[in-house]
Amino acid sequence: MFIEEKHNYKSFEPKLYLSSPTMHGEELLYMKDAFDKNWMTTIGENIDATEEILQKKIGVNYGVGLCTGTSALHMAMKLAGVKPGDKVFCSDLTFAATVNPVVYEGATPVFIDSEYDTWNMDPTALRKAFEIYPDVKVIVLAHLYGTPAKLDEIQKIADEHGAIIIEDAAESLGATYKGKQTGSFGRFGCISFNGNKIITGTSGGMLLTNEEWAAKKVKKWSTQSRDDAPWYQHEELGYNYRMSNVIAGVVRGQLPYLEEHIAQKKAIYERYKEGFKDLPVTMNPFDSENSEPNYWLSCLLIDNEGMCRYAQSENFAAFTQEHHKSCPTEILEAMLKYKAEGRPIWKPMHMQPIYRNHPFVTREGSGRDISDAYLPGEKKGKDGRPLDVGADIFRRGLCLPSDNKLTPQQQDILIDIVRNCFE
Ligand SMILES: *Cc1c(COP(=O)(O)O)cnc(C)c1O
Repeated sequence: MFIEEKHNYKSFEPKLYLSSPTMHGEELLYMKDAFDKNWMTTIGENIDATEEILQKKIGVNYGVGLCTGTSALHMAMKLAGVKPGDKVFCSDLTFAATVNPVVYEGATPVFIDSEYDTWNMDPTALRKAFEIYPDVKVIVLAHLYGTPAKLDEIQKIADEHGAIIIEDAAESLGATYKGKQTGSFGRFGCISFNGNKIITGTSGGMLLTNEEWAAKKVKKWSTQSRDDAPWYQHEELGYNYRMSNVIAGVVRGQLPYLEEHIAQKKAIYERYKEGFKDLPVTMNPFDSENSEPNYWLSCLLIDNEGMCRYAQSENFAAFTQEHHKSCPTEILEAMLKYKAEGRPIWKPMHMQPIYRNHPFVTREGSGRDISDAYLPGEKKGKDGRPLDVGADIFRRGLCLPSDNKLTPQQQDILIDIVRNCFE
């Protein structure tokens, strides 16, 4: 039966989003408070309160409010002493903002392949990377789609090599690993309040650390590095990265709703999982024994046997319709017809044109040695599984509409749209 006959798909009007802001009212009160007191600047009560609440929530000594998550990551690079010519190990399957700040400081990101258990940095590949580049001292670790990475294993490897972790918890605010909040594991942690994140200030970010010197440094650098003098005096390069007190008001108003948003996202994830039970697909996985994601985005991975003929070039994908099979492009196109916004999996950094000649390390060593005779994600390792895990997940995966305002009825239509693709 056609979806149109089965459902009143007009309930999608105007559109179903991947993840959009959800406001509650308090945001406006705190913004108005900033307005009424004329703290329309980058200092004020909202910033202080937001920093204090998040320090406590995440379990770190200091949180410094900044204008974006990207600026927090940039500040973390500087704190870590990343300098021109250095190599930095980075998550590969992530958003470009995880790695761009490495380049801002003139260093070279080395991309570490992902594992299938959480889609995050593969500890085995990280070990290989230290064999190839034993002098690396900084690891940038992201928790993709709100799912914590294998933190214990990665921390252990980092410790063995005297390296530090910069934690990119931009997508994972509120997620925990062994009961501790993500963002508290790295020597420096970064979170984001961009409009599509689990809570938002429209924009905004925060650097997290237990070290007083680091918090002081970031406060100084982010306010143009002004020295203590009667005039504008600068010993160091400065940045205009501080958080706005109006934006902090929005974040402050959102904070009491973080757990509610997580519960809604979790319900969405579980409804999809149930709805796809008998299809040749799996949901984005996590380590249920040790971690609790924030379920920011629900994603699908199509089994190999469930994939129709499908080819991707640099900026185009094509497929052949086959019975009982589908592919990300077919599903995304079917959803778009009903104004539902899915998204391909973030394209791995090692496949990005800008980073094409940067080093990439898989669990078997340099991933740049994979011959051009193979399509991305096609080459198998010694264990018989795809060697380039990021490319494989990119090829077979997609992000589903995961907005916390999604109703069960709307979600049922989405589930039927996916099911139809596998008819
Ligand atoms: C959103 C995001 C960032 C950047 O945060 P902004 O606040 O948008 O600058 C960094 N890393 C990851 C993984 C993200 O998803």
